[in-house]
Amino acid sequence: MKKLKFNFRHSRRGFLAKCFQWAGVLCGGFAVYGCQDKKKAPVDPCQDLSALTSSELQSRQQMGYVEQSSFEDRTCLNCNLFVKSQESLPCGSCLVIKGPVAEKGYCSVWAPIVG
Ligand code: SF4
Repeated sequence: MKKLKFNFRHSRRGFLAKCFQWAGVLCGGFAVYGCQDKKKAPVDPCQDLSALTSSELQSRQQMGYVEQSSFEDRTCLNCNLFVKSQESLPCGSCLVIKGPVAEKGYCSVWAPIVG
């Protein structure tokens, strides 16, 4: 069996060289990561539910809210509880459920506009 013979001087030098190499690689990696554009894509206001609590999200589900009504004559747009967007968005808000609601949406609380 062949004995391993270490040359400590060479080994230490090699070890230090490897350390510097890896330190350089790591610093370079962190530098590249740090220079990446941190801006996030803008959130579609009609899809943004981030401000809602879990109970508000649950309430949307319980009322059967969907973004696309399966009824031709019953949509959020012709619901008495719909509040149209001031910014010409394809969604607005609702007096009953929290968060954005689509003009073409629907839920089980739909109420016809009277008058
Ligand atoms: S009550 Fe339902 S159908 Fe009416 S606007 Fe709100 S989510 Fe739409």
